[in-house]
Amino acid sequence: MYVATTDRSPAGAAAKGPSALIDRFGRRVTYLRISVTDRCDFRCVYCMEPDQRFAPREEVLTLDEIEAVAAAFVALGARKIRLTGGEPLVRPGVVGLMARIAALPGLDELVITTNGSQLTALAQDIRAAGVRRINISLDSLDPGRFRQITRKGDLAKVLAGIDAAIAAGFERIKLNAVILRGRNHLEVPDLVGFAVDKGINISFIEEMPLGSIGDHDRAEAFYSSDQIRQDLAAHFTLVPTTETTGGPARYYRIPDSETRVGFISPHSHNFCADCNRVRVTAEGRLLLCLGQEHSLDLRAILRGHPGDRERLDQGIREAMQIKPEGHEFDLRAQPVIFRHMNLTGG
Ligand code: SAM
Ligand code: SF4
Repeated sequence: MYVATTDRSPAGAAAKGPSALIDRFGRRVTYLRISVTDRCDFRCVYCMEPDQRFAPREEVLTLDEIEAVAAAFVALGARKIRLTGGEPLVRPGVVGLMARIAALPGLDELVITTNGSQLTALAQDIRAAGVRRINISLDSLDPGRFRQITRKGDLAKVLAGIDAAIAAGFERIKLNAVILRGRNHLEVPDLVGFAVDKGINISFIEEMPLGSIGDHDRAEAFYSSDQIRQDLAAHFTLVPTTETTGGPARYYRIPDSETRVGFISPHSHNFCADCNRVRVTAEGRLLLCLGQEHSLDLRAILRGHPGDRERLDQGIREAMQIKPEGHEFDLRAQPVIFRHMNLTGG
């Protein structure tokens, strides 16, 4: 199905063909998240199994295929792309890919999410490649607990990576912390204090039931955004803002600081009505919703019809018609989404 729009914005004008992707519910898709690899040097307890199996390499999109997907989306109206994973920075050649995607005419913003482990080596190159903003995951400031949660991570390396990102001059660096009851929930004020000291932002994310993890009971470990805000009230003043980065986070300002505190609350504050995003998995599946399985196999199009851009564009346009209204996460049920976050691209 072909969706015509009347977008006459400069960004819309830069797009070839229809200037926006719009779903059945009138939501305009302007944001694409791409998992550039399902592999990772960590095995975070909420994301993966300890002995996580990864996709055979030939099933993962090549860098050229990822670039082709990004180019098609931007031409169809996507304005923001996030590269994520797995750990995007462990994929060889990813910095060159960033430079090529950042140069796509019509793209406003290329951003990435990383666990920070490679940033001391790569932060400057990533910034030079045209990545404007960067999210860095940090769930604990205690080396032992950090190791327990990530199963493999070295906190000192990640902290050095955060400093390298600050030195490289990224705009609005943001930390992401998944808070689990009984694991790191007592660290919430310290994590905010750390962000304030560094002059950067932080978002707290409620754990989502993606893939079986076998580590903890997700319902028992659930720690809500409201609870986190209550915990913070004893230490910081949080002033609600209307600021948005175009995503599901609700932001609060801490007076006399540069820091914004965000809450991503898929359970306690559903954000589907404003959803503007779709995802491409490491294997090239276009996922229309993080919490549902509606998808289109872009890899089959790319490999079955090499270089056929019209076919790729048409597939993407038509896929908008199967974007579901929203997710139905239930922490108490067996996971209905069997793919892990690393494949999906968080
Ligand atoms: N490896 C990179 C990182 O950790 O930042 C990028 C990929 S990771 C899948 C992206 C984000 O998803 C991280 O901030 C991580 O904490 C979050 N995440 C992973 N599994 C999750 C889950 N089950 N529920 C909520 N957030 C999750
Ligand atoms: Fe790796 Fe990120 Fe998943 Fe942790 S959350 S295992 S760092 S992909």
